[in-house]
Amino acid sequence: MSNIIYLDYNATTPCDPRVLEGMVPYFTTHFANPSSVTHLPGKQAADALDTAREQVAAMLGASPKDVLFTSGATESNNLALYGVTRAATAGGNHRRRIITSPIEHKAVLEPCQDLANQGFDVQYVPVDATGLVDLQALADLLTEDTLLVSIQAANSEIGTLQPINQIAKLIKGAGAYFHCDATQAVGRIPIDWRSTPIDLLSLSSHKIYGPKGAGALLARRALRQGQLSPLSRGGGQEGKLRAGTQNVPAIVGFGLACQIMQTEGQQEVNRLRILRDSFEVELSKAVPEVTFNGHHVHRLPNTSSITVPGVDADALLANLPLLALSLGSACNAGAIEPSYVLTEIGLSRDDAAATFRLSLGRYTTPQELESARAEISSVTKKLRPVP
Ligand SMILES: *Cc1c(COP(=O)(O)O)cnc(C)c1O
Repeated sequence: MSNIIYLDYNATTPCDPRVLEGMVPYFTTHFANPSSVTHLPGKQAADALDTAREQVAAMLGASPKDVLFTSGATESNNLALYGVTRAATAGGNHRRRIITSPIEHKAVLEPCQDLANQGFDVQYVPVDATGLVDLQALADLLTEDTLLVSIQAANSEIGTLQPINQIAKLIKGAGAYFHCDATQAVGRIPIDWRSTPIDLLSLSSHKIYGPKGAGALLARRALRQGQLSPLSRGGGQEGKLRAGTQNVPAIVGFGLACQIMQTEGQQEVNRLRILRDSFEVELSKAVPEVTFNGHHVHRLPNTSSITVPGVDADALLANLPLLALSLGSACNAGAIEPSYVLTEIGLSRDDAAATFRLSLGRYTTPQELESARAEISSVTKKLRPVP
């Protein structure tokens, strides 16, 4: 990858070397099963999990007890959606409505679609042209029948940040649970579990410079004690909510990644915002017809979703082999369909096909971004339609 400029941090991030260093002993010396409480190595592995749980909790202002380790945000989202609905059904709760937005990650949308097939009343709160959910429409959809609302904190493709505090208050007023997929927001915008009435929150290690294969679902005590059903049963791990031996090395790395984010995140975000903003200004000067998607102000500081009208973004990226960029979200890669996020915010199919995304991160340098801008400008000028 040496001469490639990586600008796809919303798809995944490299492991911070400090994280990797902290993980290594847990593959070798400290390999024991954290459930093996009969011997010292097992207790040491359990201690390592406790430390990681404290680190994840501290970053979000949560209690370590609220943290359930999973394999990543996909599993966390599935656990939240299936866990709440199954427990409700089993417990005789008659609420049947689930509310979500049409621009959620597939790991929310597909379980919701499946739950609709099972008979739940799934409703989609509309979003505006900047990707913000319509709060009045949400208030109207929040009936007494509403069990659960799942709305993301930040969108991975366009970066739009939802007004999570206002959303949470509306949901609490209706007595429903609020699940928030905060995978893209964690470490980039402040999230305080103590002061925000979110009931369930998903996050992922590999989006914040930890290893792949670890993540967490934060869950309030009331949910952990009977109102959340596990997806897997067997070993009683994670408070009987996620059976299976924990991935100790990955979880140790996840904890370290959270600790680093807690101390360095704010500074990093300020640096990335300046870089991203000047990139957009300079690109606009070179190619005045470009437009940027997402909310102008309420947007992830590292993300730029760019439409070049009349230029096929697929062809654009093929002409930029030394830049690692994405078309829409990585999870849709290979699909011929334009990104549903872009069409849901009102882009035409043509404009959606003329859109690509840059996402910056910890190791992005001003020099890299400057050469990316120069290359994108020159290839865009070459490919754009003659007026
Ligand atoms: C990446 C991502 C996920 C999936 O996370 P994994 O840990 O890769 O399973 C879910 N939601 C959002 C918003 C994401 O960006």
